[in-house]
Formats: sequence, structure tokens, C-alpha cells
Amino acid sequence: MRRHRNVKIVATLGPASSSHEMIRALFEAGADVFRLNMSHGAHDDIRQRHEIIRKVEKDLGRPIGILADLQGPKLRVGVFANGAEDLAEGAAFRMDLSTAPGDATRVNLPHPEIFAALEAGTSLLVNDGKIRLRVNACGKDFADCTVEVGGTISNRKGVNVPDVVLPLAALSEKDRGDLEFVCGLGVDWIALSFVQRPEDVIEARSLVKGRAAVLSKIEKPAAVNAYDAILQVSDGIMVARGDLGVELPVTSVPPIQKRLVRRARAAAKPVIVATQMLESMIESPVPTRAEVSDVATAIYEGADAVMLSAESAAGKYPVEAVRTMSDVAMSVEKDPTYRSVIEASRVVRRESVADGIVAAAREIAEATNIKAICCFSQTGNTASLVARERPHVPIIALTPLMSTARRLALTWGAHCVITQPQERFKGAVLAAVRAARTEGFATDEDQIVVTAGVPFNVKGTTNILRVAPCDERLISSVDPE
Ligand code: ATP
Ligand code: MG
Ligand code: MG
Repeated sequence: MRRHRNVKIVATLGPASSSHEMIRALFEAGADVFRLNMSHGAHDDIRQRHEIIRKVEKDLGRPIGILADLQGPKLRVGVFANGAEDLAEGAAFRMDLSTAPGDATRVNLPHPEIFAALEAGTSLLVNDGKIRLRVNACGKDFADCTVEVGGTISNRKGVNVPDVVLPLAALSEKDRGDLEFVCGLGVDWIALSFVQRPEDVIEARSLVKGRAAVLSKIEKPAAVNAYDAILQVSDGIMVARGDLGVELPVTSVPPIQKRLVRRARAAAKPVIVATQMLESMIESPVPTRAEVSDVATAIYEGADAVMLSAESAAGKYPVEAVRTMSDVAMSVEKDPTYRSVIEASRVVRRESVADGIVAAAREIAEATNIKAICCFSQTGNTASLVARERPHVPIIALTPLMSTARRLALTWGAHCVITQPQERFKGAVLAAVRAARTEGFATDEDQIVVTAGVPFNVKGTTNILRVAPCDERLISSVDPE
């Protein structure tokens, strides 16, 4: 089973998407990576979803990425007796430390440090800024507010206090527990929320200990400012536009998105554009024109992946939302303008033999009738370098490591195939040719480009490029061993 597009799709799982049938349907519709949000749902739910994904992966024989998103120091309200309440403009609403379920007049906000920092006149923003409350009076355990912009508030919605600097640790006790739990399950990516400094990422990495790749969500002004240093210590990036658009003026999000995507690509690290991409599809089976345009823009910018949040986690049309993203991607990637934009933004800096080899592989593929670029990759680094080139032919990444194949589910264009560990170059070429044929990328008459490193099984040695016929009889005995 192969996809006919390069950009990847991340789908968040939630109450609307926990069954085996639904998760399988989402994968078949085009989801490449599933996101488990640790802010919602108990460990048992997370474990169940994880098991189902691994079962779908086994049944369909394709590696699937799993990304666990740690809550981080996100401020959230507690729960409501009725699950949700409508707040009307002008109404009074209280936030307090009482853990009693909320109603139309109050709700729990379990963060004493916020009450300590609030003053009369401060704004509290709820649910990615959709609801705005103004503080009239406050004490050490409550804030009495007036609703300035109303809306529906529901269980565990996020709260932002953009006017106030809050003293927050990068990882809460809950995050540390969740991190151990998801590493124990065997997730492929861990996303860190509200990263502010590179040290936050380094601290998380020391806890993850290589058991998963680490992705930084950029959603604080401080992270935008320290972006290059954060990128350097991260394995991937998420442009988390929900909180970013609340913490900063919403009009600053598009230029920031462009810059973040471009630099992540230059660093050959996968970057996800996230939040409200197809928001209206929570309720409607069809997207708005503006949403389609937003997804398309992220793809034109060269993002590795686009993401669904509530659309797939809690919406009425999860499968339709994934299908819509996939259709938009195929439409954009067919556009000659897309190719020219991607090529114009290609990084020309070459720093290593591997950089040169992958660039040559792309150039050969452009100049001749090559059906795929096949690369052997242990850690996934070579595959990421090939992806950075954004070649116009498919990328087949061959790896003996399932963990590498799963991580690469997030990387632009990478179609991963598990192979036996290779000892000799000739065997590797044969394995590549067979993979290209059986996965439906080439036939006997075609040619592919193969890159590999000799000696095999040594990290960072990509140093060979071979144009190989897909007819095995033509791979001659004079080929180098
Ligand atoms: P984040 O800041 O990490 O994105 P979020 O609250 O915005 O957190 P999303 O995963 O983006 O969460 O999903 C959007 C909404 O979908 C949530 O606010 C919640 O209402 C709903 N949702 C998502 N996952 C779940 C879940 N597992 N259980 C209940 N509701 C969920
Ligand atoms: Mg967020
Ligand atoms: Mg969100």
C-alpha cells in the first residue's frame, strides 16, 4: 500500500476516533501518524489506542508513527457537571480552586500560581482564545470575571493569560509520569508543549533517553525568539498555532509559520503545521474555502506534515477530514507552481558527502527517467537528507529498524520498507530493486537510484550512488560487492 502524495497527515485520536474500525479507516483514508494527546483521556484510554494502532500496523503491513503530546505547563480549567456550559456576553463567571464540578456560574482552575499573578483588568482567554473573560476582582483562590466574548466552555479547555508572565517549569509532575508511561508503551515521537528555551528540550531528552524522538511545539513568544537554538536540540518541530495565536497577535502567525517551516526544512528535521486547519469539519462534512487554502499554503511552504486536532479527535467527520487533507495535498503536489516554489526554496548549502550524494541522486532523477530514490538509512538521517531535497520522484527508505521506519512516518515523502540488515552493496541494490517493484513504484523496465553507505552498519557513511535497472538479470556480476 502506497500513498500518492508526499506531505504527511497527523490525526489526533479522541472520543470520536478510539475504535479499531475508526482508526483503521483513518489510516486507510490517509493518516500517517496518530497523535495521542496526554491532556485528555486516562492512561488506560491511551494504552488502548496505542494497542489498536499497532494492530492496524501489523494487519496492513505498513509502519505507522505514534506521537504522544505531553500537556506541558498548560493551564486548563477543570470539569463541568454537564460537560459543557454556554457563557453569554456580559455574564458573571468565576474561576476558583474548588474541585467541585463546574456549572454556568463557576469552574475549577487548579493553578494557585495564576490567582497569585492576576490583577483586576487582566484578560483570561479560554479554548485557543475563543472565549475572553475580564477579571473584576481576585484573591488567592478565586477570580470573579465578566464574559467579554462568549462561547461554549467545556471540560479541560486551555486557559491563556497573555498579559502576565507566569513562573512555569517545563515539565510538570504529570508530564514526567506521562513521559515514562508513553516511553514504556513504545511511542515514536514525544511532543513537548510550551517549550521556552533549548534547556527545556535538553531536560526532556535526558528523561526520554533515546526511546523516542523529541519534537518541540512552538507556541510561546520565547520559543519563537530562541527558535534556532531549540531547533538544534530537537528532532522535529510543530507550529502549534492554537496557543501561538493567543500568546502573540494572530496576524503574526503566518509570517512565523513560514519562517519556522523554512528553517526546519533547512535543518532536515520534520515540521508539522497544526491547529484549526479544517476546524469547520468538526461539525460539517465539507471544509470552507479558507480552510482548504490554509492546508494548501502549508504544503506550498514545504511543511512535512499537516495536522488534525479536534476534527479527528472529537468531530463528527474524522474520516472526511483526513480525506480532505489528502485530496488537497494531491491537488497541490500536481501543480507545476508547487514544484517551482519548492525548488526555489531548496537549501543549497552542502556540508557533507551525504549531502552531495542525495543532491546528486535528485539531479539524476530529474534528468532521466528514474522511478524512485532508494536510500538505506539506519537512524533515518540519510532519508531526512533525501527528503530535504524534496525530489519529484518517490523516496523509498530502507531500514532494518522498525523504530526508524515509524519515526520517518512524519517525514515528507518517505515511504519506509523494512529490510534485512545488509552486508554487501550488491545485496542492498537487489533489496532496493525488489522493494521498488513490490511496493508498486517501478516495473522490470524501470530504473531507480540507490544510495547507501559502505561499509554497512556504520552510522553516517552514505557514500555510494548507483543507478540500478529494476530487472534483476541486468544487475551484473561485475557490480561491486
Ligand atoms: P493542545 O494544546 O495540546 O493542542 P487541545 O485541548 O487543543 O490541546 P487537541 O488535541 O488539539 O487538544 O484537540 C482539540 C479538542 O478536541 C480538545 O480541546 C478537546 O475538546 C477535544 N479532544 C481531543 N482529544 C480528546 C480526548 N482524548 N478526549 C476528550 N476530548 C478530546
Ligand atoms: Mg496547544
Ligand atoms: Mg489544540
